[in-house]
Amino acid sequence: MSNPVPTPVPRSTAPQGTVTQASHKQPQNGRIGLNATTTANRGEAVLEAGQTIIEGGAVVAVDDSGTEFADGHVVVEGDRIVAVGPGAAPAPEGPVRRIDASGCLVTPGLINTHHHLYQWATRGYAADAGLFGWLTELYPVWARIDAEITHAAASAGLARMALSGCTTAADHHYVFPRNGGDVFGAVVAAAERIGIRLHAVRGSMDRGRAHGGLPPDSVVEDLDAALAGTQDAIDRFHDPRPGAQVRVAVGPCSPFSVSTDLMRQAAELARRNGVRLHTHLAETVDEEQQCLAEFGRTPVEYADELGWLGPDVWLAHAIHLPDKAIARLGETGTGAAHCPSSNGRLGAGVAPVRQLVDAGAPVGLGVDGVASNEAGGLGEELRQALLTARARYGPQAMSVRDALWLATRGGARCLGRDDELGSLEPGKLADVAVWQLHGLDHAGIADPVAALVLGQLPKLERLLRGGSVVVERGRLVSAPEAHLTRELHRASARIRTPEAS
Ligand SMILES: [Zn+2]
Repeated sequence: MSNPVPTPVPRSTAPQGTVTQASHKQPQNGRIGLNATTTANRGEAVLEAGQTIIEGGAVVAVDDSGTEFADGHVVVEGDRIVAVGPGAAPAPEGPVRRIDASGCLVTPGLINTHHHLYQWATRGYAADAGLFGWLTELYPVWARIDAEITHAAASAGLARMALSGCTTAADHHYVFPRNGGDVFGAVVAAAERIGIRLHAVRGSMDRGRAHGGLPPDSVVEDLDAALAGTQDAIDRFHDPRPGAQVRVAVGPCSPFSVSTDLMRQAAELARRNGVRLHTHLAETVDEEQQCLAEFGRTPVEYADELGWLGPDVWLAHAIHLPDKAIARLGETGTGAAHCPSSNGRLGAGVAPVRQLVDAGAPVGLGVDGVASNEAGGLGEELRQALLTARARYGPQAMSVRDALWLATRGGARCLGRDDELGSLEPGKLADVAVWQLHGLDHAGIADPVAALVLGQLPKLERLLRGGSVVVERGRLVSAPEAHLTRELHRASARIRTPEAS
């Protein structure tokens, strides 16, 4: 039954590209249309070196100027974008790989700001429960994860991420069973295997039932072990350099599973190491009531007191926020990972996304763990975010371009990488999604961004991460999907019926 979990390579060494060509960017206002051509008879030369030219399709750069081209190009050299512009790309010098994007929409790769990848092995539990009931049923199941289950689940989850347009994922891992092996390393290895950029959040819980917390004592660490494990994760995997494939953040799980001491000391540890901070906050009314009863403060007031607000912090959910809290998140530059499908699945509420953005807080999108979002695709969250916002706050609450912005620029800001991720601009990393819009689902649609956000999630013609092909014509290139599926099936069965393993 046992599959060895590959050892992840610590501190990956992504090459840095060089900007060699000026931008041809010409801002264009208004909506854009699509070329009505098909992808038949595409000639493509695959080269090991030189430039990659994506041309023939609509390009939406998601830059500050709102640059869009109905027919444009993106040129990639090494792991960086070197040119974005209208029409065909200038004739290249040297070898070139061409990607014919006719009938396609080219956008930045999407960024997922909140996930729990190990949960791919625990979907479908507590299907009708709210957060606390759902957690109570799932904690004992999660207590059975090990490195092999985590690797299989994370590989499948990251494959799903890639196939839904995601090139960077933040994973919040906070369950460390005593005999589970190197579960954190298993997630990092999965990201290397699938080819997704990873922000690995080393989570922790030190407040089991014996200390008034929600999780059973068997799945929590003590404070010293949690801090030591967090430092170890940073030492092993955090790469602070530009273009990094793996970064580590510090992430005690939530106020109801973590002691005040761990929250405070974890923040200090993160800042000593120059890494970012992440936790769940203000997800449900139950959490707010518990926080008020126990600490006499709302979740945001409690976080503020412990040093958990600031431009190096992003919070998962941030739903139940008084006006004062929204203003405080804005003025401190604290980010929010908006997870609309999970919030709907658990009946948690609707995050005030428009108000947070207007207050100046970075807001990104997340799928959350798939135990509370069985679909698990990031592309689908754009539609969910828009529909949720408009259903709750009215038609002006979110535009289709706002939704794309959240999933790209907003995510990059949450992860502290707006300087190199989230838009198609020369100098940024070549994380690019090329969406097929020429089939039955989208043919003839007036606005390609509306097609992406409101329509059926398109298949990917290509997904590039740092200039490398991750998905090609709807297929993952890094690992056979059938193999990942078998691994996931086995891992899910093992965790459901451990005596069978
Ligand atoms: Zn979560």
